[in-house]
Amino acid sequence: RAKEAGRNRFKVFTERMLETAVDQLTLENDMRRGLESGEFHVAFQPIMDISGHDVIGFEALARWDHPDRGAIPPSEFIPLAEESGLIIPLGEWVLYESLRTLADWRTRTDKAKDVSVSVNLSSKQFIRSELDKIVLRALAEFDLDPSSLKLEITESTIMENPESAIRILKRLRKEGVRFSIDDFGKGYSSLSQLQQLPVDTLKVDRAFISRMKTDPENMEIVKAVIALAHSLDLDVVAEGVEEPGQLCSLIDLECECVQGFYFHRPLPTDEALQLLMLRGGGSDGDARENVARA
Ligand code: C2E
Ligand code: MG
Ligand code: MG
Ligand code: MG
Repeated sequence: RAKEAGRNRFKVFTERMLETAVDQLTLENDMRRGLESGEFHVAFQPIMDISGHDVIGFEALARWDHPDRGAIPPSEFIPLAEESGLIIPLGEWVLYESLRTLADWRTRTDKAKDVSVSVNLSSKQFIRSELDKIVLRALAEFDLDPSSLKLEITESTIMENPESAIRILKRLRKEGVRFSIDDFGKGYSSLSQLQQLPVDTLKVDRAFISRMKTDPENMEIVKAVIALAHSLDLDVVAEGVEEPGQLCSLIDLECECVQGFYFHRPLPTDEALQLLMLRGGGSDGDARENVARA
């Protein structure tokens, strides 16, 4: 009986594995089709200066509206796109769509002149040696200055293939493209390697920001990361700011920029443009007073 139970368990197990494999394959095919038939779009999450009153840029985030399953989150389709290689066309599409949108905003309002768009890159894109050419071609196509673009990469993206990654980074930076280290502190931290990386901005992972108030040790970590970034001449963006208390702490720690649901969720293109149109006119002054007023 034990044997039979074991066999049954094995059967259930293999059936589930098969199911998962079939599901993944289906989704992969759906993604391939969806990319061609316009099921993807880009949402733009504002990155605010620490006063919370000015947009300095937008992070472009891929969105997929599946015809049967509705919205599928990036946490589901990005890993699948990376496994299947679809991240190459998807990533390139996000890059073009983001730059096209920024160029369009600039024809509509002067207030889009000095904002940048941040695009996430996967390590699979970095392995392709022509990444630098692809990026420069996209910028040229929309007649955008390279400084309009920020590329977000993680520490692990670089560490997977450091020589080629750093070569591409340097090449693009020489042209004026800027780089952020995304989700800093999430993976294994390479504080010592950080100073060798030719980047401009450090994005502190959301996990640290959310635990800042409840866990004093965590506050110390955020403080140390910001101090380190400043000593390396990097700007800091805090990700996932949801509460005014977090903002106050970040102001004290002299963090430059903030991004999170407390300010704005990722927005559809037209709402992002509306936000840009409203720029200026807001009160400046002391950031802390502005928090109190908000
Ligand atoms: P990420 O690059 O770290 O992007 C920030 C994520 O945090 C976004 O999730 C955003 O919606 C979310 N977020 C921002 N503020 C808050 C907040 O206050 N609270 C909470 N709970 N979440 C917040 P999203 O859009 O689901 O994307 C998840 C991840 O998927 C991204 O993390 C990025 O790694 C990846 N991703 C999204 N679009 C692309 C893309 O076009 N290419 C690549 N390679 N990866 C992408
Ligand atoms: Mg990002
Ligand atoms: Mg991030
Ligand atoms: Mg994150």
